[in-house]
Amino acid sequence: MNEAWVGIENQVGPCGVICGACPLGNGEVAKSADQTRKYIADCQIPVWAPLIAGGEKIDWDSVDRGLKWMQKYARCEGCRNGGGPPDCAIRICARERGLELCSSCEDLDGCDRFEWLGEHSREVKENLKKIRGLSKEEYLKKMRSSSRL
Ligand code: SF4
Repeated sequence: MNEAWVGIENQVGPCGVICGACPLGNGEVAKSADQTRKYIADCQIPVWAPLIAGGEKIDWDSVDRGLKWMQKYARCEGCRNGGGPPDCAIRICARERGLELCSSCEDLDGCDRFEWLGEHSREVKENLKKIRGLSKEEYLKKMRSSSRL
């Protein structure tokens, strides 16, 4: 198991998102920012970039500030640990109804609380419909056994 998973390996949002499979949850985004900073320095990219079309316009100090910021903040603790948007309508509603997963909710079909997810809302709801009847543990087991994690 990736060390970034420790502590979040069994975390699942009520929307069915598995935190360890999310690059913000498992730390991959922050790690890639760190790695990119190292590549920029080791390969001396700012030194030769101006010699290549468009490279002279890049503000490498800003790039570095952005990547440093990502190393620190482009992480998510998972919505059960206070990560994610605090006003997520899905999380708030599921918590009020005492549901671990929205797949257990009898109102899932007509629920409009997923709309804020935009283009992903349909996919997220369809996934929840497919896992109806499964507990969180059974869902995680199913996803792991299908090698999707
Ligand atoms: S109504 Fe049901 S499906 Fe919709 S957010 Fe609330 S718990 Fe989830």
